[in-house]
Amino acid sequence: MRYSFLSLARNALTGHADWPRAWRDPPLQQRYDAVIVGGGGHGLATAYYLAKHHGLARVAVLERSWLGGGNTARNTVTIRANYLREPSMRFYAESIRLWEGLSQELNYNVMFSQRGQIDLIQSWAKLRDVKRRQASLRLIGVPFDILTPQEAQAKLPLLDLAASIRLPVLAASWHPTAGVARHDAVAWGYARAADARGVDIIQNCEVTAVRRDGGRVVGVETTRGFVAAPKVALAVAAHAGVLAATADLRLPIETVPLQAFVSEPLKPMLDVVVNIPHLATYFSQSDKGELVIGGGADGYPSYAARGSFGVVEESVGAMLSLFPALKRVRMLRQWAGSIDLCHDITPILSATPVEGLSLSVGWGSGGFKAIPIGGMALAHLVATGTPHPLAVHLSLARFDGGRPLFETAGASNRI
Ligand SMILES: Cc1cc2nc3c(=O)[nH]c(=O)nc-3n(C[C@H](O)[C@H](O)[C@H](O)COP(=O)(O)OP(=O)(O)OC[C@H]3O[C@@H](n4cnc5c(N)ncnc54)[C@H](O)[C@@H]3O)c2cc1C
Repeated sequence: MRYSFLSLARNALTGHADWPRAWRDPPLQQRYDAVIVGGGGHGLATAYYLAKHHGLARVAVLERSWLGGGNTARNTVTIRANYLREPSMRFYAESIRLWEGLSQELNYNVMFSQRGQIDLIQSWAKLRDVKRRQASLRLIGVPFDILTPQEAQAKLPLLDLAASIRLPVLAASWHPTAGVARHDAVAWGYARAADARGVDIIQNCEVTAVRRDGGRVVGVETTRGFVAAPKVALAVAAHAGVLAATADLRLPIETVPLQAFVSEPLKPMLDVVVNIPHLATYFSQSDKGELVIGGGADGYPSYAARGSFGVVEESVGAMLSLFPALKRVRMLRQWAGSIDLCHDITPILSATPVEGLSLSVGWGSGGFKAIPIGGMALAHLVATGTPHPLAVHLSLARFDGGRPLFETAGASNRI
């Protein structure tokens, strides 16, 4: 769709009166072939791939507020595949492959910028860890190199390499295919493309309970009445535990606040994503010039979407310890999301003991990067009843069989 400057100006002055809707606002039907609960990136991507790959015509996404208003629009948008465990590496490597073609796939610019990620290594133990990851990642074809401190500084001119700082930089890892994308464009792009394939996207419709009849799901109770469906998938992030409990399922998930903050806009000074794993802090520079800074999750469960000041202080302190030139930069704003965390820092993308009920939850602090492959894998599971080959390790049954994955590269400070 093209707009001339005059049309943009006219729409700005007329309150966008004749601006075409990006997706329909259809009436809620009483019955669907599949209902996806949660209009974040994962729910919307799942609906899109269900319609595209599996030809399911009557699919609804039920969102209690507005699309992408959950963690999808609150995250710091880092996309990477440098995980620790082989199944995770393969899963996220495939996601990056999908990100590379996503703007074309959706005919919507998700602003994927493959600028690379650098991890600054400050201990010998961490250096051993990244060397191990380098060997594994190379085996599956993901580019990942170890840099000297001087090579790292060539990419990060403001990096302080003084030996006198408390934890000097010993080395760095470089993951050139990592990057960032525009979070809300991802939700809108999938919504528009799913809608074009006939998916009903219903906003302001909260699911209050999952209804089952004996061993199988029969639909959901919503604030707009009962909706029947033989297949229901929950992609509700932090609310997974509460909603699953209405179907008598207890999930191994805790909900914790995770926050991020941005600085005032600066001139372009950083063209990679920087991660400081030892100090649980990372940052990148947005197209607007703001430094987008993230830290670890708060150390206690809570549904409050606000983080504690201690985490802000720790994160900024960590950044300044290696980049002291930024000390006069002012913070502009801070926000938080409620993340859904499994104790093995690995999501659950799985069928459940309730026939027809599937889950895509537990994405914690790392689910944005997984949206394309997560949506594709959940659509495969919903449509076929079998796990996607790249998502077998994400089953709920791993907790029964004592096979948690412990993905220490999945989040900064939980294990
Ligand atoms: C501060 C922060 C930084 C992060 N940084 C990164 C990062 O750099 N890289 C990365 O990969 N990931 C990151 N993440 C994690 C990432 O944002 C999430 O894992 C991802 O967005 C999860 O997507 P989702 O679709 O599962 O959940 P959400 O986007 O949260 O969507 C769930 C939706 O379900 C809806 N919902 C909930 N309950 C109901 C109900 N009962 N009925 C109907 N709808 C309901 C919610 O309103 C919401 O819209 C970060 C998260 C935060 C908070």
